[in-house]
Amino acid sequence: MTKGQLQIHSQNILPIIKKWLYSEKEIFVRELISNACDAIVKRTIVDNSASVTHRVDVRIDKEAKTVTFSDTGIGLDADEAEKYLAQIAFSGAEEFIKAYQTNDAFIGHFGLGFYSAYMVAGTVEVKSKSYKADAASILWSCDGSSEYEIIPSDRQNVGTDVILHVTSEHEEFLDEEHLLDTVRRFCLFLPYPIYVNDTLINEKEPLWLKAPASCSDQEYIDFYQALYPFEEAPLFWIHLNVDYPFHVKGILYFPRVHDNFDPNKNKIKLYSNRVFVSDDCRDVLPEYLTILNGVIDSPDIPLNVSRSYLQVDKTVKALSSHIAKKVLDALDTLKKSDLERFYKVWGDCEFIVKYGMLHDDKFAQKAKELLVWKTTKSSHVTPDASATHYYVTEEQLGSPLVELYEQKNIDVLIAKMPIDAAIMSKLEHSSSIRFKRIDSNLQEGLVDSTSGDNSALVDFVKKSLALDGVEVEAKNLTTQETAGIIVIGEEERRLRDYLARISKEKMASAPVKKTFVVNTNSPLVQAIQKMKDNELASMMVRELYDLAALGQKELSNEEMRAYITRNTKLLEKVACAI
Ligand code: ADP
Repeated sequence: MTKGQLQIHSQNILPIIKKWLYSEKEIFVRELISNACDAIVKRTIVDNSASVTHRVDVRIDKEAKTVTFSDTGIGLDADEAEKYLAQIAFSGAEEFIKAYQTNDAFIGHFGLGFYSAYMVAGTVEVKSKSYKADAASILWSCDGSSEYEIIPSDRQNVGTDVILHVTSEHEEFLDEEHLLDTVRRFCLFLPYPIYVNDTLINEKEPLWLKAPASCSDQEYIDFYQALYPFEEAPLFWIHLNVDYPFHVKGILYFPRVHDNFDPNKNKIKLYSNRVFVSDDCRDVLPEYLTILNGVIDSPDIPLNVSRSYLQVDKTVKALSSHIAKKVLDALDTLKKSDLERFYKVWGDCEFIVKYGMLHDDKFAQKAKELLVWKTTKSSHVTPDASATHYYVTEEQLGSPLVELYEQKNIDVLIAKMPIDAAIMSKLEHSSSIRFKRIDSNLQEGLVDSTSGDNSALVDFVKKSLALDGVEVEAKNLTTQETAGIIVIGEEERRLRDYLARISKEKMASAPVKKTFVVNTNSPLVQAIQKMKDNELASMMVRELYDLAALGQKELSNEEMRAYITRNTKLLEKVACAI
């Protein structure tokens, strides 16, 4: 028997490991299975003649209250157990303590994986037989104090069992379902078969490790659905495969975006050499890309993820901007090579691109080349940096004005989401491009210049409406179908909408100057002018105004109520008159 003193000076190492090393207790599972796989890799290198089927077995013994991690790896002899399990690991621990006293940001540097077992175990035993021909089997054990012992053991086959005597506070790890879940979470893509009480955990191939050229679309889709069961198949993905200046592989998917899209639902999974590390990618990716789904695998990301550690890590920062660049490159290549497909996937990508543009100027520089807008004619346009573009919000698509623009063959862009307003302003700042909502002015093409004296009509309309802050004009529009339009200056309206958004109040509470343009070309307007019943004519004028406001989604709730009441009265009058 060998007895020894752990090579550390501090007696308090284990409590500190337990408290500080990992934020999640489950991580010991990841560490021990990773060590087991590493040991198998080492054995395949030094002893590849061995005819063994390599595997890792995790077994629960409820009676003995143990969880055992067994591998067919390289094994340890007595000297190695002393050296690797005591001296080296604990010298790492000692350095860790020193660093931790000054700065806990360096946690990731120390090889303390094995000792994470003490987060849930009182005593840990390591039963091992080295691959070396004359090595005797050993049993190393340590109860968490600073003393360990090594005695001969009865293990017959080369490999190692790490036996955890689980403490009473952590008996959940003796529950098979719980352990299965945990192993699945961390070890789904490990290279050797992992069994929990004889159930195989990792059948899935990590698609991200295959060469992109040899992966089919169906494989990407199947892999996505294995990661996120029940989710709709994505239309677009990016296969990362970088070897310089760091190693990163992975597949990033743009999730299908719907009205009820929840950006926090399916997160990107972070792996280090096929071992799951975290699904908190906040520092590995710029925030605007964390909406993506998929997998990132990089050995350059420290396994012991601590938030503060990741933030200071230079590699992690470089990785983040590199991935952002890759995302843009992939979209750019698609736009140039297959415009139709690009238009198809744009709906799922645009929010991320636009959101990124608002948060990162470097990203915006390149991303603006990608911008396209869907038009009301269901095609797409790339905005011209020196032109004026007309747009309509999605909720105003029902406005008769849209038709007016279409008749004149003027492209109207659909601004689908509130973020479009911010993107338009951003583009206007950096070029002479201008965006105007279709109701922000009546551009020349929509008005017929031959228009006589309409002052009587204007006066009558003004009097009938009696609305503060509403100007009235009469114009001969090029359509007969629209009786009137409410024009609101672009700048003023943007300010109003912005204020409404930040104060979360209804737009009606932020007044804006409006001009009601009555269309003298409309047969209805012409008929109203000829009416004898002034009161009815007045009501009808107000009706025209409300109809315009309705089409332009400019009616507040109060105005809507008044409109319905008036409309009912009006119909009653008409019904009685007939
Ligand atoms: P790291 O894995 O980062 O080196 P650990 O504390 O996890 O640190 O392990 C310390 C050392 O113990 C390993 O480097 C390895 O030499 C040895 N070891 C741990 N687990 C096993 C195992 N299952 N089989 C063989 N050797 C092991």
